[in-house]
Amino acid sequence: MSDCIFCQIIAGHIPSSKVYEDEEVLAFLDITQVTKGHTLVVPKKHYRNILEMDGQASSALFARIPKIAQQLQKKLDAKGMNIINNNEEAAGQTVFHTHIHLLPRFDEQDGLKIKFETQEPDFTALAQLAQDLYFGG
Ligand code: AMP
Ligand code: ZN
Repeated sequence: MSDCIFCQIIAGHIPSSKVYEDEEVLAFLDITQVTKGHTLVVPKKHYRNILEMDGQASSALFARIPKIAQQLQKKLDAKGMNIINNNEEAAGQTVFHTHIHLLPRFDEQDGLKIKFETQEPDFTALAQLAQDLYFGG
């Protein structure tokens, strides 16, 4: 897609700081570097996000994640890693070409804060919701 910034990076029309590449996937440093080594892993083929990918395309992408994450962890001596994927504006997606954020973690002051607003468990409501959502395999 010509108006997609990540497609332009993949095509080499816009520079990027590559850390990994193969025939299906490219990984490059996120320009904002929320934590040191913050990397985006993208499929070379354009998909808007995971919500429009099938199992085969998403498997090819996710299959690369452990290897890239492990390399980043090792080379940066990171203590951990958050792996985040935003789908659609409501979930914070700003670039509409599927990408997985790899965020190496070092300590609580390393730039990333993730806070889950938790609620007291309501087991009746959980059971009902699971029943409504269940679709088997
Ligand atoms: P998201 O909010 O999940 O869609 O994340 C999009 C990410 O793309 C943001 O973290 C941006 O900093 C990053 N980004 C945007 N343009 C570029 C670029 N040219 N090179 C590297 N990262 C970029
Ligand atoms: Zn694209």
